[in-house]
Amino acid sequence: MAIKEGDMYYAYSKNPEIKENGEYGGVVTTIMKYLLKNHIVDGVVVVEEGMDLYDAVPSLITDPEDVIRSAGSIHCGTMNLAKFISKYLDGCRDMKIALTCKPCESMTIVELIKKGKIIGDNIIMIGVNCGGTLSPIKTMQMIKEVYEIDPKNVVKEEISKGKLIIKTIDGDRKSFSIKKLEEEGKGRRENCQRCELKIPSNADIAVGNWGVVGHLAGKASFVEVFSNKGAKILEKVIKDDFIEIEKPNKEGIAIREKINKSMLELGKKSKKKLIGDLTGDIIEAFHAYEDEFSRCMKCYGCREACPLCYCDDCSLESEGPEWVPGGYTPAAPFFHLTRMVHMVDACTNCGQCSEVCPSEIDVAGLWSIVNNKVSEEYGYYSGFKTSKPIPFTQYPHKK
Ligand code: SF4
Ligand code: SF4
Ligand code: SF4
Repeated sequence: MAIKEGDMYYAYSKNPEIKENGEYGGVVTTIMKYLLKNHIVDGVVVVEEGMDLYDAVPSLITDPEDVIRSAGSIHCGTMNLAKFISKYLDGCRDMKIALTCKPCESMTIVELIKKGKIIGDNIIMIGVNCGGTLSPIKTMQMIKEVYEIDPKNVVKEEISKGKLIIKTIDGDRKSFSIKKLEEEGKGRRENCQRCELKIPSNADIAVGNWGVVGHLAGKASFVEVFSNKGAKILEKVIKDDFIEIEKPNKEGIAIREKINKSMLELGKKSKKKLIGDLTGDIIEAFHAYEDEFSRCMKCYGCREACPLCYCDDCSLESEGPEWVPGGYTPAAPFFHLTRMVHMVDACTNCGQCSEVCPSEIDVAGLWSIVNNKVSEEYGYYSGFKTSKPIPFTQYPHKK
């Protein structure tokens, strides 16, 4: 059976153990196992559950029998695996890998491929639909206070039909409206609330449960093929009898589209709210955040966590000229302006910088506004494959 770009299927694993333990038919786990077993890749990068459900651990697996460890999903997996690959796996220079990625991770990988920091031919992206992730500690507090459940008793959390559903070890189930939680400053991370890519169309294959209806509801995933590479892989996995597929029905396709559309609209609304009346230039946006940034203790956490801040010799630490005078705290505005200049075209709203900031500054919020202005001006959208030149790389700029 020939598979091609644009094809959509319902799919589930033919491996009983993976089907049982994996999420919605265990398709992602099965593909990963297949790729390793057949030496198509040297390793797979996945997220495993660590100490508990709130502890998401990035992991490189090289033995196909170990892939089962990564079955299931963790909504507190807020990391960006692009950093793991570019920093710790040397951008896949010497090894071929496959990874499971959220849309903001596939976007960041695409940006890093454009900048030569990840070798695109050596990476296979199995994307997963994403409605949002939650910061682990805040989530534990919220479960205790709002759900009145001991976070240790939670076995699963799920976002469905606008609700955050929590299931306990005793089989209890409680849900609250995500909208309401977010109005109270709880729920998904702020960058997730304004996220504008929910189905990772820039990965090779996208997998999720949206739109799986009928006899396979809850037992299979909806798979969409987004590249030739993805098509070839899926074709092999099916031919070698690792997964079973069925054509999705029209109702399922429509439901998936509807969910995606409503999530994107919510993202747009949150972004609009964030930008507010900041309709001027980048400097105006920067001014608006000055009070907030005056709390910066210059710990370099945002720079360290940002997957798109990758220079080995960072100019912020150069001896002279003294870009950031004196090493004082709070950091001089130039500290952030320098970082802004370095990644303004590339920020993918992944939220890592806000996540780590000890002063709880909405770093990603400002970069999101600034990146939005660059996109509007240059028609260049970070995280997407494009033939357009990267802004600020040529005179005159050809749009
Ligand atoms: S930014 Fe988007 S893709 Fe990334 S975790 Fe949040 S909702 Fe998911
Ligand atoms: S600046 Fe923040 S949101 Fe943007 S790519 Fe870096 S870590 Fe992600
Ligand atoms: S993480 Fe926060 S406190 Fe640390 S340098 Fe960045 S903005 Fe400043």
